[in-house]
Amino acid sequence: SAPDILLEVKGLSAGYGKIGVLHNVALSIATGEAVALLGPNGAGKTTLLKAISGLIGRGGEVRFAGRDMAGAGPREAVAAGLAHVVEGHRVFTQLSVFDNLLLAGYGMAKTERRRQVDEALAFFPEIAEKRHDRAGSLSGGQQQMLAVAQGLVRRPRLLMLDEPSAGLSPVLVDRVLAATRRLRQDGTAILLVEQLIEKALATVDRVYALARGTIVLEARADEPKLPERLERAYFGQD
Ligand code: ATP
Repeated sequence: SAPDILLEVKGLSAGYGKIGVLHNVALSIATGEAVALLGPNGAGKTTLLKAISGLIGRGGEVRFAGRDMAGAGPREAVAAGLAHVVEGHRVFTQLSVFDNLLLAGYGMAKTERRRQVDEALAFFPEIAEKRHDRAGSLSGGQQQMLAVAQGLVRRPRLLMLDEPSAGLSPVLVDRVLAATRRLRQDGTAILLVEQLIEKALATVDRVYALARGTIVLEARADEPKLPERLERAYFGQD
């Protein structure tokens, strides 16, 4: 594959037990590219992120950073530079902001770990101010920023974000997505699952739409008429 392809998925299938959810999914992400994965409820977006990061089993091909990830589980994916921020801001509410970030860098060399925690905090001035506060005392949006910051501590090449806007007010959604844009400018590739189509389109370079477990549309985010095409793709008329 071309040298600038960071993630390449081909013929991927996955599901839960005997329930097949994804069928013959193909997508690719270039180094440093931001891509949105859109699609209606139940299309399989969360399942696709889990299959890519090895949280669930899968068939087909996944190549990441030049490696064949066949048989790779979540540890191997993390080690290869793939971070997955799962749905719903999962933070340790009893621990401080700082300790949540240190925990995300578990196993790293001490000085490097501290340096990366500071760098992750530098992306989110709002939570940097609260580094000594309990994570449980943060607002929902701040907890979501902390969850994203946790994904950064290992300096991933690809950050997969599963609905970072879920449950947030419009102002906080904008802040989380602005942080996503800064990360992309900093060279981190992004795979963003998002329900808010317009906000997603303003954040990424390219989009895929998933419907009924398969990719039904791929386009540049600035393509004219994309919202209409997406709507048709969602309802199976594209
Ligand atoms: P949403 O936007 O609602 O989160 P989604 O596109 O992320 O939707 P998934 O959560 O991946 O969709 O779900 C895809 C399908 O897989 C759905 O039919 C769902 O009911 C099913 N599913 C999800 N998780 C499980 C599970 N743990 N066990 C069995 N079926 C599941």
